[in-house]
Amino acid sequence: MKTNKRAVVLLSGGQDSTTCLFWAKREFDEVYAIGFDYGQKHKKENALAKEIADMAGVPFKLVSIDSLSQLHHNALTDSSIEVCHEKPEGELPNTFVPGRNLIFLTYAAIYAYTIDAHHLVTGVSEADYSGYPDCRNNFARAANVAISLALDTEFEVHTPLMWLDKSEVWKLSDELGVLDLVREKTLTCYNGIPADGCGECPACKLRRAGLQKYLNSKK
Ligand code: ZN
Repeated sequence: MKTNKRAVVLLSGGQDSTTCLFWAKREFDEVYAIGFDYGQKHKKENALAKEIADMAGVPFKLVSIDSLSQLHHNALTDSSIEVCHEKPEGELPNTFVPGRNLIFLTYAAIYAYTIDAHHLVTGVSEADYSGYPDCRNNFARAANVAISLALDTEFEVHTPLMWLDKSEVWKLSDELGVLDLVREKTLTCYNGIPADGCGECPACKLRRAGLQKYLNSKK
């Protein structure tokens, strides 16, 4: 039974999840945020997520699952591996962390369960990204079914960015009145530089191109 409109947002301190946080604030009565320490190189992500949650007036829970790095090494968790700027044809980029979003959603559902929340919000998107399988809609829908069955609780997984490209994500943050906050406070850069970032890595290029496209469309 859905007795309230309480939501848990997966918040990483990046552009997408921050936009989702403010989207959730518009859509739900009560919003909670959860972030993960999974051994990522850039610890700043979680500090920023906490700051952003504070600014939004949302409680933030940081959960450690750094054992993930005991199983798999990749460019986001291992300093000796550089982010591959050109993705090999037909392969996943070396920033792929296998199983990450399934684990994150499961943890978020456990947290939601303990606070009687039935809505989960995640910023995954298949419109404009590297082809991570756990950002696709079919994954999100299947995870929704699996976690609802596993916890015998009716959850609804919301993916408001699923079909938005980066310029449309900027547009949404503008509609939510937080474009400047997202621009100045979030960290998307693979080199760990907040706001406009290093400007060179794939995440920065995508973010900047999206912002320019959106700002041009407003002129
Ligand atoms: Zn960068």
